[in-house]
Amino acid sequence: MALDSMTLDIVATMVAALLGAMLLHFGRQENTPALRWWGAAYILGAVAIALWTLVGEVYGVVVSLFLSAIGLVATAMVWNAARVFHGKPPSVIGLVLGALVWITSGMLLDPAAQSLRLTIGAAIVVIYAMLTAAELWQERRRTLHRRWPALIVPAMHGFVLMLPILLGNMLRDADGAFAAAWVTIFSIELVLYAVGTVFVIFMLVSERIVSAHKRAATTDPLTGLLNRRGFADACAQLIAREAREQRPVSVLIFDIDHFKSINDRFGHAEGDTVLKLFADVVVNNLRLTDLSGRIGGEEFAALLPCSIEEAMVAAERVREAFAASGVVCEEKPVDTTVSIGVAGGPAGTELDVLLAAADTALYKAKRSGRNRVEAASELPLSLERYRRQRAAAAAGAPPVQPGQAVVSS
Ligand code: GH3
Ligand code: MG
Ligand code: MG
Repeated sequence: MALDSMTLDIVATMVAALLGAMLLHFGRQENTPALRWWGAAYILGAVAIALWTLVGEVYGVVVSLFLSAIGLVATAMVWNAARVFHGKPPSVIGLVLGALVWITSGMLLDPAAQSLRLTIGAAIVVIYAMLTAAELWQERRRTLHRRWPALIVPAMHGFVLMLPILLGNMLRDADGAFAAAWVTIFSIELVLYAVGTVFVIFMLVSERIVSAHKRAATTDPLTGLLNRRGFADACAQLIAREAREQRPVSVLIFDIDHFKSINDRFGHAEGDTVLKLFADVVVNNLRLTDLSGRIGGEEFAALLPCSIEEAMVAAERVREAFAASGVVCEEKPVDTTVSIGVAGGPAGTELDVLLAAADTALYKAKRSGRNRVEAASELPLSLERYRRQRAAAAAGAPPVQPGQAVVSS
């Protein structure tokens, strides 16, 4: 079956225009400038192919030179879209350089040197495809994975384009059959490339949006630490990993002392500043392998993959650092101290159990005068009993005695 190149061009035009409109639409909806760049590139590409198909051959060499230059600008825009996607500024010089080289070589070269001009044109497209691939590949190195299509798609494009150059000497034929076949292959490939790159950019954009939402759902916006949910998720993973190695885990609960009075005296904004400072103190005094999070208003927690003895040392370090942090509000020094409860358990101890024990220890630290670290003497045998004890303490009732029967609801 012979493929008509005019039909193929029309299909390529329509596919590029449709994809361009779709990208522009999503670019606007998701407020993603890279998608708008990409969409505009496709629309421009579609216009160039359409005009070239319709009038290129009628008006001769100069018009088709300029129309194909527009196609090169569209190719450069795809590369710029990848740059913008990574927060880089678009390159104006890069945008027009390929087209300028193409037009200049078209003007200066002997019209008979057809294959040299084609080689230059193909080389320009391949360079842009490679630059695009390099940009998308960087993304893979940063945070995202499974990025191979980002490399394969532009590489395939470059390969098909360079095919006649690579095989040129071998297949140079008198009747031009190879050239005709290549034009057909190229038109089909162009459609596949257009669809393939859109697939890649959608994959990158959707992955980025998902990870941004995930980060927002698990991060405390004030301190940048994990929130309760993010902390619990990360802890579950760390505890499971340590359990496989049969290593103990420990939890620290921090509660800033008399924090309400900081708010009352200096206002909520100053209170927030103290919270941020405390978060920094925690992060700076724990190891990179430790997890920390803000689990309540002025309550923070950390999970350390170590024994309770080592965790006590870390807790003491945080307590001292915060007491010595020299907070100044309204030009007056403010005493900032923290009480810390610490609990440790054997490999695989659940977070809730550790938190419950550490909370009991924290309660002890508060009652013993604050600005101190207390270790939990034991892990609660029953979380249910622990919760009832806490509820009873909050209501002012006598605590449940050890061994006393607890009726679960
Ligand atoms: P204690 O030593 O017993 O822990 O006393 P405290 O005042 O620190 O404890 P309390 O639980 O009575 O007060 C906690 C305060 O933390 C009350 C609340 O207004 C404040 N708080 C909670 N979240 C935030 C926040 O995001 N920003 C600010 N500025 N304050 C907060
Ligand atoms: Mg509190
Ligand atoms: Mg407090």
